Amino acid sequence: MEGDPAMTTAAPALVPGRSCGSCTLCCKLMRIPELDKPRLEWCPNCDVGKGCRIYSERPGSCRAFHCGYLAFPYLDARWFPAKARLVVAFQATRLAIHVDPARPAAWRQEPFYRQIRDWALQGARTRRQVLVWQGNEVIAVLPDGEKSLGAVRDDQLIITREKRGPDGRMRWDAFVAERDDPRFADWDGRPAPLRDSGRGT
Ligand code: SF4
Ligand code: SF4
Repeated sequence: MEGDPAMTTAAPALVPGRSCGSCTLCCKLMRIPELDKPRLEWCPNCDVGKGCRIYSERPGSCRAFHCGYLAFPYLDARWFPAKARLVVAFQATRLAIHVDPARPAAWRQEPFYRQIRDWALQGARTRRQVLVWQGNEVIAVLPDGEKSLGAVRDDQLIITREKRGPDGRMRWDAFVAERDDPRFADWDGRPAPLRDSGRGT
């Protein structure tokens, strides 16, 4: 989709009429730095399927987070995270799809897979990474393919870049680097490195 707001807008307005409702999936799948809550574990403050027990006092990263379903009108009811079993999270340099390990292949179903591939194509133009988190395993979805990066620690960087192959053609690649790697000290964050911030996207 040309001009997809998911790839051009850092903080879009919420879609009128949409709410979390019975969904609490991000409270399981995503890391919450302020609470030391790792990915894939329910937040102890979560009333599963109902909401946050400390809503008025929830951490800043929870306040700031709105998933793609809440933010982008073209992600229709099929993208409701509690049903789709995936949470779309976006940052200036990254679009991440967090998949419920109970349904690890959910992102390969339609309409999700086609849209994720389209985001990856757009990411080449807007310099934004597209990553799928299946638990702690990361798959970089590249404009010309995919690359499994295995388990990635929160203190590591994920680098995506184009490079010239032996046949002279440019291809996309992704790899993991240590955060203190001097080769990436001046990286501008587009499309990588993906420094974790806020709600662990
Ligand atoms: S994943 Fe989206 S809809 Fe579900 S609780 Fe989180 S912000 Fe709300
Ligand atoms: S503090 Fe509340 S909003 Fe934040 S992860 Fe826990 S249950 Fe969810």
